[in-house]
Amino acid sequence: MTAPEVETDLPQDPIARAVLSLPPLRDAIAAAGLSAKKSLGQNFLLDLNLTRRIARAAGLVPGGLETGTTIEIGPGPGGLTRALLIQGATKLVAVERDERAITALSTLVEASGGRLELVCADALDINAEDLGPAPRRIVANLPYNVGTRLLLNWLETPERFASFTLMFQREVAERLVAPAGGEAYGRLSVLAQWLCRVKILFDVPATAFTPPPKIKSSVVQLVPRETPLAPADRADLERVTAAAFAQRRKMLRQSLKGLGGDALLERAGIKPTERPEQLSIEDFCRIANAL
Ligand code: SAM
Repeated sequence: MTAPEVETDLPQDPIARAVLSLPPLRDAIAAAGLSAKKSLGQNFLLDLNLTRRIARAAGLVPGGLETGTTIEIGPGPGGLTRALLIQGATKLVAVERDERAITALSTLVEASGGRLELVCADALDINAEDLGPAPRRIVANLPYNVGTRLLLNWLETPERFASFTLMFQREVAERLVAPAGGEAYGRLSVLAQWLCRVKILFDVPATAFTPPPKIKSSVVQLVPRETPLAPADRADLERVTAAAFAQRRKMLRQSLKGLGGDALLERAGIKPTERPEQLSIEDFCRIANAL
């Protein structure tokens, strides 16, 4: 019987060892003049214990020789990128729009022995599914200003991705996992949970970032479902939730007037006096199907 593999400080994988022996991130930041820009949502993670925790949460195991593609959005100076390589990502594609960060990452590209590829682009302009073969997992400490938009883009084709492990501001994380009945429940909750299993993995305090943001953050994981939670046409479901939550204090009879009001709700078997936050995802699907 062979002894079980134990994670030690010095991994077996020569690439992981090469990455661990790189100079500290602060040196790469200083050498590339990578002062954090607010306009690019730059709040860096420099603590390798934390970034490795995120990489582990994404399912990467040292020596696991992952198949498929790990995609990182916004590697910045490369804290999480290093962790992903140490944790065994064998094909890692990182998309970054700040050229200073691309410079800062050049030594990591060398150390990665061909495992890390950088794409200098705005992540909003590219199709993440074209970046490498499946299974594709996206792992990112997202820039807050475009995080939700990026997720909505990826959720256009959820079947193309195995998982998303993403840092969001706490308030967005709460909206993503919110159950019916709560203040945070809204369009984003319905769409995300209709398409994926969603959970908050852990919170990250502002002090973990350089510079610290004003808000708390959480790492959220979304795993696409094989089929959505209940049958519905996506465009119809989005029309219904957009209209319903546009006036979340109003009764559905009022907010859905333009889509059919009482008659529509009656066909769907929903009381017209309900308010949107009281409806389950399945209820919204029934209304979408009655459209
Ligand atoms: N991953 C790094 C870390 O954890 O330290 C940096 C995270 S920082 C919150 C967000 C990163 O996304 C920055 O490096 C920023 O330059 C980059 N970024 C911002 N907007 C972007 C966009 N539209 N496309 C690609 N990268 C973007």
